[in-house]
Amino acid sequence: MVEIKNLVKKYGNKYALDDISFTINSGEIVGFLGPNGAGKSTTMNIVTGYLASTSGTVVVDGKDIFENPLEAKKLIGYLPEQPPLYVDMTVQEYLNFVFELKGCTLNKQKHIDEICTITKIISVRHRLIKNLSKGYKQRVGIAQALIGNPPIIIFDEPTVGLDPKQIIEVRNLIRNLGKTHTVILSTHILSEVQSVCNRIVVINSGKIVADEKTENLNKTINENTRYRVKVSGPQRDVSQTLRNLPGVVSIESLNERDADAFVYIIESEPNIDIRKKLFKTLADKGWPMLGLEGVGAELEDIFIKLTDKKGKKGE
Ligand code: ADP
Ligand code: MG
Repeated sequence: MVEIKNLVKKYGNKYALDDISFTINSGEIVGFLGPNGAGKSTTMNIVTGYLASTSGTVVVDGKDIFENPLEAKKLIGYLPEQPPLYVDMTVQEYLNFVFELKGCTLNKQKHIDEICTITKIISVRHRLIKNLSKGYKQRVGIAQALIGNPPIIIFDEPTVGLDPKQIIEVRNLIRNLGKTHTVILSTHILSEVQSVCNRIVVINSGKIVADEKTENLNKTINENTRYRVKVSGPQRDVSQTLRNLPGVVSIESLNERDADAFVYIIESEPNIDIRKKLFKTLADKGWPMLGLEGVGAELEDIFIKLTDKKGKKGE
């Protein structure tokens, strides 16, 4: 449905995108995950025809976005990182305006009514956009993307700046749209793609470093279990002892101390629960354990891991 081949984007001498290729199939909800500056917005802006690439092609349902932009663009609804809202219009005026702009031929009022229902903005349709909360503004942005019934919808960082309740609502809306649309969700939030998408493409520094089903990626990144542990005792000796525990993969001493207690991050193999052994070993040594909690992997670590993995495969 969307074929991205060998996309390159240079700003001056710097590569924002360095030979990116992937294909999105009809009906998929694909997460496009990467840290800030990875090249997500650049990719989405090229895929939607808002930005020219330095080289490479994007083909949407057989139509090249550069050679056939009008037809290709009709197939895509886009919520950019900065939604293109005209804040001095009411919601209704704005959606009418977008309808005309897109040259829609559907029944105007019926179509806009349907979209306002789906995005739950009926109650604010006569209000000026500038007076809406960030959450409502974002829904108006989503409504704008849905006008013309495009089969593909692309969201770029749709939950940034929203409060937790609004985040849940927007994610639910995206999930529901995914039942009837092909969706690309671009975000730097790992849990967001894990909860919404069935496939995840990971980008880092302008390169694709992973492209996997969500469940497979979850396995990759949950390979090891991490604990944050606080131990009262001499830092070097404690560190050495922890390193020698069976099942421990790595120890990191944090620059955090509380009187004579230091904090460590312990990474252990996934199938070994080191906690009992850890507790007993420290007790035997006379170094009380003052705290133990599981911690998730840091997003940065995941990108490093995925990048390393890819390097090892020699790709
Ligand atoms: P993301 O959306 O993943 O945060 P972007 O696609 O916005 O990343 O940016 C990718 C890289 O391209 C970044 O290093 C960014 O600084 C650079 N970049 C983006 N837009 C421009 C621009 N107009 N001019 C120069 N560099 C840019
Ligand atoms: Mg961005």
